[in-house]
Amino acid sequence: MASHTMVPGTIAVFIGPPGSGKGTIAEMLEKKEGFHAISAGELLREEISKGTSIGKDIKDTVEKGKLVPPLLIVELMKMETAIMHKKGKKRIIWDGFPRSLEQARATADIKVAAVVCFEVSEEEVVQRLSGRRVCGKGTHTYHTEFLPPQKPGICDHDGTRLRQREDDTPGAIRQRFRVYEDETRPVIEYYRKKKMLHAVNASSTPEEVYESVKKAIRSS
Ligand code: AMP
Repeated sequence: MASHTMVPGTIAVFIGPPGSGKGTIAEMLEKKEGFHAISAGELLREEISKGTSIGKDIKDTVEKGKLVPPLLIVELMKMETAIMHKKGKKRIIWDGFPRSLEQARATADIKVAAVVCFEVSEEEVVQRLSGRRVCGKGTHTYHTEFLPPQKPGICDHDGTRLRQREDDTPGAIRQRFRVYEDETRPVIEYYRKKKMLHAVNASSTPEEVYESVKKAIRSS
């Protein structure tokens, strides 16, 4: 008997260091291929901006670039995935989740079709993150040099003013890197052993990375 929870759709997991372009590629797949991306970081930032009790509890942790408690993010991701499936979204991307072995094991009952690992050097990521800007709603991502909006400082999609994320400061970026190496590397090995991992060179242009990711997902 299958050990996986039967879910009415496909889930692709995106793993990669901060600034590796997971969100950008997820956004392209949403626009061009009808995927729906659920970003773990965005769900948490939403809780913070709404000022919910969860948001108040995790604000400090997220702004410092540490991981929030595993059960909290597992619950949020499972709930959001179930809501999206109910809304008829058949192809889901988990962007930035699971990020620790505990999270991966806690979701082993959900069938994941493909795991894409975005590989990029630390130097490049630092350069990318320092120019990263997000829209006022935190949904659309730009780069001052590599992916500028049409009107400087304004989101092309919703007209909100662009800003820098609180955790894109040098100290928080270094912390997020350490967390990635310590907590998330083992997740990559976990999926590699299960033969689910597709490593993608994420240092090329968004269009090239997009094509590699699409191929990886299709071949699964
Ligand atoms: P991101 O937008 O993916 O860079 O995530 C921003 C921050 O949200 C991270 O630095 C963590 O504090 C928190 N976060 C995001 N995803 C997870 C996760 N899967 N587990 C725990 N904390 C997370």
